[in-house]
Amino acid sequence: MFIADHTGNILATAHYSDGSIAARVLAFSQEEINVEFYTNRITSAFQIRKLSGLIQNESTNAYRLIHAEGDQLPGLVIDFYNGTAVVQTHSKGMTNDFGLISKALERCFGADLKQVVHKSADKKSENIPGDGSVEATVEILEHGNAFVVNHQTGQKTGFFLDQRENRALSGQYSKDKKVLNAFCYSGGFSIYALKAGAAMVHSLDSSAKAMALVDENLEINGLSSANHKSITADAMDYLNSDEAQDEKYDVIILDPPAFAKHRSARHKAVQAYKRLNARALRIMKPGGVLITFSCSQVVTPDLFNHTMAAAAIEANRHVRILHHLHQPEDHPISIFHPEGEYLKGLVLAVS
Ligand code: SAH
Repeated sequence: MFIADHTGNILATAHYSDGSIAARVLAFSQEEINVEFYTNRITSAFQIRKLSGLIQNESTNAYRLIHAEGDQLPGLVIDFYNGTAVVQTHSKGMTNDFGLISKALERCFGADLKQVVHKSADKKSENIPGDGSVEATVEILEHGNAFVVNHQTGQKTGFFLDQRENRALSGQYSKDKKVLNAFCYSGGFSIYALKAGAAMVHSLDSSAKAMALVDENLEINGLSSANHKSITADAMDYLNSDEAQDEKYDVIILDPPAFAKHRSARHKAVQAYKRLNARALRIMKPGGVLITFSCSQVVTPDLFNHTMAAAAIEANRHVRILHHLHQPEDHPISIFHPEGEYLKGLVLAVS
């Protein structure tokens, strides 16, 4: 649809929806939304990822190609997994435009594109192209580490690409250490820790399906299970157990799902982050490192810092901030849409 002022001047082209956001602006001009339009937007996003060296990188072949508003395509996420483009649509308009988006991807990537998969956020995933010959799993490389991505049964598009650089950094703190990777999903942080020479890694997730992925990922990286333990449990229950307390972890990683999806849930979410982190701080070995995240967009970096200060007071531990962590460059934030900043983390030295 077009948005016009009272004189009929067209101000913008948008996708209309009868939900809480009535119009998602695709362009501040009158534009025909066709294959050309999507080709231009995708090409521009691709060029930006090239700048940082993410494309044609020997050790990494998975990245976010389109990050919604950050790439001027609200309602659209495209993750590129070693030749498989997983398209996630979050609005009716984008879902309807899937055919155009798919054609644009073919134009941009040519033979580098093996398949395009549609994973709509409002209905079950459906596969394109139509001959049904879609591979459900893809093997990717991230900083030289291999991961199996199942875009059909996996969470979101199949993998959490946004933690790539933070996983690499966490490895630096893991050598010879006993590490707990809580909310591990497919074990990303665990693989980096083990490759960096961790003495022992415990991976924890409440999802049995996620824990099965951890096993697969250990295997394809040639990592022995001798210094790895899988724990299928609720993170808070585990942290509260005597067992966890006795482990005396040197490094704890906390990467929970978004506790607040809306502003109205922010207060409760802050309390939950505080409780979780206070518990982790309490059981940590003195001299340990807590690597903690929040992907709730409504919890700002400042609020997250304050929450961690409250957790440190509650746990009666002295804490120093070593790093502020963010989402990586393939999850760009439009300067006109600061809400696009959602991932924040802290590396904390705990004494
Ligand atoms: N750190 C992961 C991504 C984490 S996504 C990575 O690097 O890929 C959040 C994970 O938390 C999901 O796998 C989900 O199954 C898990 N989860 C959600 N609630 C949980 C709970 N109460 N206890 C433990 N795990 C939980």
